[in-house]
Amino acid sequence: MPSGERHLKLEMILLPAFLGGYYYLDPTVNHLIAFGAAYLASSLLLTPDLDLRHNDTRKRWGLLGFIWIPYSKVFKHRGLSHNLFFGMLTRISYLSLLIGLGFAGAYYAGVNLPQVQQWQPNWPLIGAGVAGLYIPNILHALYDKWDTSRKMKRNRKLRARTGNVQTAR
Ligand SMILES: [Zn+2]
Repeated sequence: MPSGERHLKLEMILLPAFLGGYYYLDPTVNHLIAFGAAYLASSLLLTPDLDLRHNDTRKRWGLLGFIWIPYSKVFKHRGLSHNLFFGMLTRISYLSLLIGLGFAGAYYAGVNLPQVQQWQPNWPLIGAGVAGLYIPNILHALYDKWDTSRKMKRNRKLRARTGNVQTAR
């Protein structure tokens, strides 16, 4: 099974448990929906593997997939993009930058943009969204770490047994 599918499977299996846990901590339906929607967006559209040239996540963006090409060039695979804290932050910042540039372009092209009225941030709702975005990112990074150390251990064992540098995949 390709690694992207393995990640998605694990994240979907754990989703009901996280939804249950979240509802236990904060029984507000709106927050629960924000948490679930952010979790799905993170698992399907904002995975750390956007740092790869070819990946399932970029395919899910369809025609817009090309916007992630610069990201995959800047971030090396399993580097900062897979950091527990900064990984998701790099993708959110990158996406915000593109959206900002889009608005700036529209503004300079003379498009009438809707005025933002006084905006009161709803912190509990934002918190639910952030938690939903981060949990799959953390699961992904931990799974990759575990997978790498498992492969390294297996290779070491194989080398010790065969006495050559052949590596297992
Ligand atoms: Zn990965």
